[in-house]
Amino acid sequence: MCNGNTTPHYITHYTGIYEGMQNISQINQIFILLFIKIQAHFKFVPDWHKQPIVSKLVSEYYCLLFLICKENKKLEKCVVRCKFCKIYFITHFCTAGRNDLGCPFGCQEANRKKQSNIRSTEYHRNHKNKKKKLNQNRYRLSSKKSPQKSKINPTFRYLQIVISYIDRRFVSFEDILSLIIKTIKTIKKQRQHI
Ligand SMILES: [Zn+2]
Repeated sequence: MCNGNTTPHYITHYTGIYEGMQNISQINQIFILLFIKIQAHFKFVPDWHKQPIVSKLVSEYYCLLFLICKENKKLEKCVVRCKFCKIYFITHFCTAGRNDLGCPFGCQEANRKKQSNIRSTEYHRNHKNKKKKLNQNRYRLSSKKSPQKSKINPTFRYLQIVISYIDRRFVSFEDILSLIIKTIKTIKKQRQHI
């Protein structure tokens, strides 16, 4: 994490942005911009965020986290490290302080898929022996209507929660989507000018 005693140029840069703001929407946009740019480099390997191509973005993201927590002390306890790749991120208040979480950049989803594949493989391996049980379960499932699983993109859902924390108000999913679309357009424009 950023250390308050050293002041790299990007801290000064972001501090300037933060202090000069009339509202917090610029911070939200920078947060989403950095998040999406970093996530584009995600690989489910321990050091993915330490590669030169992404480490500068991660330094800027850490400084932004530092500034966000400086403004909102309650969020400090929500900054945790990913169990898999060790990157810092803001988690929900209900999971604050935990050290067994996967990051929203990709480890959480990748681990969920991995565990699901393991369960599926085990299931198919034992399928013949459990045929009777399967039929019982099918009967049980058909008699109960299971709730529809949410199809909302987990990254969008995560950003909605974190931006609501930063903004200290409920930010609607529609507002988050328009912020994300705006941010993606900005990234595309930046790429065209390179
Ligand atoms: Zn991770």
